[in-house]
Parts: sequence; C-alpha cells; structure tokens
Amino acid sequence: MPQLKLPLQLSGSFEPILRGPAHPENDLLPSGQKVVLNHQKSGFWGQLSGERAFPEFEATDAPANIYTFDPWIGCLWGKSCSFCYVPDLMTGHYPGGRDGYWFRKWGSWLLPKPEITARLRKALLDPSGRPKKGLGGASVFMSPKTDPFLSMPETLRTTRENLEVFDQSNVFLMCQTRSPKVVEDPQVLERLVALGLKGRVGVSFSISSDLLPEQRKIERGGITPDRRLRIMRRLKDEGVFVSVAISPLLPHSPDFPHRILEAANHASIQVLRSAKIGATTPAEVRENVGASVAEYDSLAERMANQLLAVDASGAFSWGIGNKGFIGAFLAAKKFYQAASA
Ligand code: SF4
Repeated sequence: MPQLKLPLQLSGSFEPILRGPAHPENDLLPSGQKVVLNHQKSGFWGQLSGERAFPEFEATDAPANIYTFDPWIGCLWGKSCSFCYVPDLMTGHYPGGRDGYWFRKWGSWLLPKPEITARLRKALLDPSGRPKKGLGGASVFMSPKTDPFLSMPETLRTTRENLEVFDQSNVFLMCQTRSPKVVEDPQVLERLVALGLKGRVGVSFSISSDLLPEQRKIERGGITPDRRLRIMRRLKDEGVFVSVAISPLLPHSPDFPHRILEAANHASIQVLRSAKIGATTPAEVRENVGASVAEYDSLAERMANQLLAVDASGAFSWGIGNKGFIGAFLAAKKFYQAASA
C-alpha cells in the first residue's frame, strides 16, 4: 500500500499528516479539534497525589487555575516512546476506540487543529490585543498529549506564533518537551528567553536516565541523555526556569542526581504505573521494565533521597508523581521572584 503524506497547512487545513499506509478509516477523524485551553479541575492536575515533594506543599498552595494546551492531536514521537500513555487517555476521542485506526497507529499521524493560533489569541487576549483580565495568574501546561516542539517546519512555525501569543498574554507557560528545538531553533530560543525575562515560562524537559542503554529500553529513538542534559543546562544558563521531567525514571549512574542539579532548577519524578489505574503505559512495556529492574516501584523514592543527599544548598525542589509537575509551577514562581529581588 502506498505511503501517504498529505500537505500540512496548520493555519487553516483540517488534513492529517500520515506517516503510514493510507486506510479507509482515515475518513473518520478523532474528535477534539475545537479544544484550545482545557481548564483542569480534577484528575492529574486537580487532585494532588499522596506522594512526597520537597519542599512539601498542599493543594491550597497549588496554582488556582491550570489549563492545558495541545496545539494539535497526535504526536510523531509516538513510535519512539514505547511507554506513551496518551493513546490510552484518548480512546474516547478515536472513532473505533482501541480497535480503530487512530489508536492502533498512534505515533504515525498528526491532526492539526484549524486556526489554532488565532483561536489561542482569542482565548488569551481581548479584541484590542490586551491580556484578558480574568486569566491573570493562570498557568498553562503545553502540552500533555503531544510535543509542541516537533521538528517539522510547519509545526515549529505554529509553535513560534503561539509563543508570541503567550508573550502578549498574562499567563505563566510551562512547556513540556523532549525536542532539541527548544535551543536549536534560534527563534524558539529567543522567544523562550524573552518570556523568561518576564518570569512567565518554564521548560519541563524529559529524560529517563543518564545511561543510553537504559533509555533505549523504552525509547527506540530520541536524542541521547547527554544531549538532553546539555539542552537543559543551556536553557538554565539563559535564565529560563528548567524542570527535569524524569519520566519514566529508569536505572541510572551514581552521577545522575548531581547532573540533574547542574542542569535544572526542579525535578518531576515518575515511574511507570504498576497497576491499571486510569491511563497507563502499555502493559507489556510496564511488565518488561518491572521485571528487569529490582524493586522498580521504589525507584522514585530512591531518586528523591539521592537528590536530597547531593543538594548541599537545600534549594533544589522536586516532587514525585503529579506533585512534581504541579510543584514545578510553584518552584518557577519562587525562582523568578528570587531572580528579580
Ligand atoms: S512525546 Fe509525549 S506524547 Fe509524544 S509519543 Fe512521546 S510520551 Fe507520547
């Protein structure tokens, strides 16, 4: 069957980009294209887990309004990240559910949201281009279900434009990525640094281990751990708040905690779920990791203790589970307050 790659015009088109064989089921698109900002009041963002954080915090300390933002549906890293739980989260949006094309071929397609930058502008700014007052102090996580820094020219152009909209707004933006484009695309880096100077951005960068053979057990591609740590260090040196998303955590060298302290300001630590609660990594990936790592479920606690042990200043913050990701917003606020004092 021929490979189909449709032209990608993110500004207006509704056409998916497909990196696999064409299929009649492509005619039925996933739902969700109209969603711009998704207000999170429950689940991962709304209900703190009982896991540890440093410094410890309560739900009342967490940002009052957290929104998530996915500029498109699908993610072209998907064939690399074998642990990805996103398709499991999205089954209700896919025609055919788990048996349908979109679930089975996750990682091979991307569905642009039409006019996403214009709609983001409308959500964040008033008609005269001023920040909407009601969103002052809100936080946005970009993106929980894709990578906003995918390296195609069309997607990068959209993300640059979206960053400009965020720059004009009054929200705090946390970018989640595993893409080198955050430093290697000069225009992206310039916009992140500009937002950093205003104290309104953080970059949460994914890494599982500092040992490449360990990373390759769950990520068939992706850039090396050394390169990831260099990218984080570069952002940190540029004054941008960096949270390392150690997710999913895997065995690592004794130097890893120290290298994390050098490269980042905060750590979000997550292990693959060992039980079927909500959206999860494919069972065979969980089982393979669980079977090959002694006491895998306690790895996050051990990493937290290692970070405490190497942090002589006592200033490095971290959290396990969603306390890491929600705690990153609190840590970023403190980081920029200290920088401007
Ligand atoms: S980058 Fe994130 S959303 Fe995309 S495939 Fe990897 S884990 Fe899933």
